[in-house]
Parts: sequence; C-alpha cells; structure tokens
Amino acid sequence: MTTVFTDSKIATLTQYLQQAKSIIITSHKSPDGDSMGCSLGLFHFLQKQGYPVTICHPDIAPAFLQWMPGIEKVRLLETEPDAVKDLIEKADLIFCLDYHHPSRTGKMEELLVASTAHKIIIDHHRDPDQEFATLLFSEITASSTCQLIYDLIDALGKPDLIDEKSGVCIYTGLVTDTGSFRFSATSARTHQIAGDLIERGIKTWEVHENLFDTNSLNRLKMVSYALLEKLVIIPEYKTAYIWLTRKEEERFNIIKGDTEGLVNQALSIEGIKMAAFFKESDQIIKISFRSKGSIPTNLLSKSNFEGGGHLNASGGKYVGKIEEAIQKFVTILPNFVEENKASFE
Ligand code: 5GP
Ligand code: MN
Repeated sequence: MTTVFTDSKIATLTQYLQQAKSIIITSHKSPDGDSMGCSLGLFHFLQKQGYPVTICHPDIAPAFLQWMPGIEKVRLLETEPDAVKDLIEKADLIFCLDYHHPSRTGKMEELLVASTAHKIIIDHHRDPDQEFATLLFSEITASSTCQLIYDLIDALGKPDLIDEKSGVCIYTGLVTDTGSFRFSATSARTHQIAGDLIERGIKTWEVHENLFDTNSLNRLKMVSYALLEKLVIIPEYKTAYIWLTRKEEERFNIIKGDTEGLVNQALSIEGIKMAAFFKESDQIIKISFRSKGSIPTNLLSKSNFEGGGHLNASGGKYVGKIEEAIQKFVTILPNFVEENKASFE
C-alpha cells in the first residue's frame, strides 16, 4: 500500500473537507476510464456524506464510458463555460485528479491557477506541480488514480462507505488504466482492492461488459480497416504504428473514444516492443505511445512531442501534417532504440 496518505496530510485534508462550502472535482481533458472513475468514485463517496460537491471537467467523456453512474451530473467547461467558471471561482476546495499539472486541463488551466481554493492533487503521473498543489498525494507506482482514491478512502477509515456506485467507478479506473490487470503497474495492491470491491458486491463482470462489449459496427469496421490498411511495421526496430486521417475517421463515422485501444492492437503483435498511433485532432496531430517491458515511451513523448505520461503508456502532439509527425517519429526511432538497446532486446 502507498505511504503517501500520511496521518498529518489526512488530518489537513479532513479539516479542509469540514470547512469547505463548495468542493469541486476536476480531471484532465480527453477523459479516460481512470479520470472518470476517480472523479465519480470520489464524488459518490463525498456526496454520500453530505458534502457540497460538484464535478467540473474540461470536456465530455467518450461514448464507451457514458454508462458510468452519475456521469450525467458532470458539468463541462466546453458546453457550459460560464457556469463552470462561476463554480470554480466560488470553490474553496478543488480536487485535481489524475493530472500532474494544470496544463493537462486545457482551457480550465487559467481558472484553476487563478482560484484561491485549496488544491488537492491526487495522481500517479511523474513530476507533479508542487507549487500548484496545496496538498499533494503523488504515487507514481500506483496503477491508477482510482487505486489512490481507494487508498485515500481507506486512510480516512471509511471503506465501508464504498457502495455500488463508487465501487463500480473505482473498479473502472483499475481495469482501464491497467489494460485489464495486464500492465506492469498492476500490483498485489491493485488486485487486493479489486478483491475487496468484489467482496463488497460490485458486479465486476458488468463493468467489463460495459467497457468492452459495446462496440458499434462502425468502430469494428474502422479497427479492421486500420489494421488492414494503415498498420506499418518496422521490424528492425521492433516497432509498429497505425495512423488515421480525419477523412478516414469521417468515412467510418466514428465518435470520440472509438480509436482508444487501437495502439494496443499494434503492440499485441509478436516481437513488437513499441507501438504508436497518430491521428488528426483539431489543429494538431495527437500521438499515443505504448511499450512492453522497460522501454520509456514517456521520455520519447517528452523530448520530441511536447508530451509525457507513463513508461509504457504516454502521449504527445505535433503541430503540422500527420505525414510530418510520422516522419519525425521514424527519424528519431533509430537513436531511441540505440539509447534503450537493452529494453528492446
Ligand atoms: P493516451 O495515449 O491514452 O491518450 O494517453 C496515455 C497516457 O499518456 C495518458 O494517461 C497520459 O498520462 C499521457 N499523455 C497523453 N497525452 C499527453 C500529453 O499531451 N501530455 C502529457 N504530459 N501526457 C500525455
Ligand atoms: Mn490514470
């Protein structure tokens, strides 16, 4: 179990909670299963105890998460800018979940930085912004921020308050951020928490079904097309990548979140150690990296694509054409493989 929830920090947090008149939960933009899970999990836990709490996110969650309990209560900066601005301005306690730096919240950053509320970062990404946080709970070995939310609830001595709603949300983050308990960040603690949630009656199979067995036909066709036509393998560097243009996305009528997991398909090929996925997004090219073993994709993202993240799962962006982004990746690849030779063996 993590040691970040020290008695003194928990005492401070408890005091903040007791004094708070308006609590806001925030998370990063382009939400995933973990950011939705920890926001909603903490929301249900606090609401059950009568705390005045609201979730404010930068933008909407993808369709494959829209079943999550309480998701309809999430307020979005992209659709209700004035209301969310007002909520953040009036808040006296803000939880900052699953992001290490306010820039990960996009346009919400300036509101958060301007706010005088106590800011509580709970996160598992590297290099947390110490100056931004009033209270920092950072554990980079945790599988997910949902794991940390469970540990927080445990440290508060209140796991008995975890119910169907909060339990399902916490479990969702465990599953999605660990690739269904596969990635190396999956620890004994991750399984212990999953076990405890099962003992508390959470129907975990329903979560898996909701997450993975609700593909649209359009999405399946897009995945088939991407694998058949847009998968490139570079055998000498044990690397594979997939790329999709906006036109191709439009052809399959796919919606936000539909390309999630595509990069893992490329990584699943025997002998492939690193995979990338490039897609046209708004004014930029969004890139996802995944790796097996100890290949540090986060360093690759940080040094070349203004990004970051975890060792085995990271992301970044490129301003320009998608072909140029790919060209840049292919150009830096030989050096990166050389620098991490042992990991690529
Ligand atoms: P995904 O490929 O699923 O979009 O992102 C995987 C992980 O990479 C995320 O959980 C996040 O930690 C990190 N990540 C993705 N995009 C960015 C980015 O633009 N900047 C930073 N710092 N991290 C990112
Ligand atoms: Mn996460």
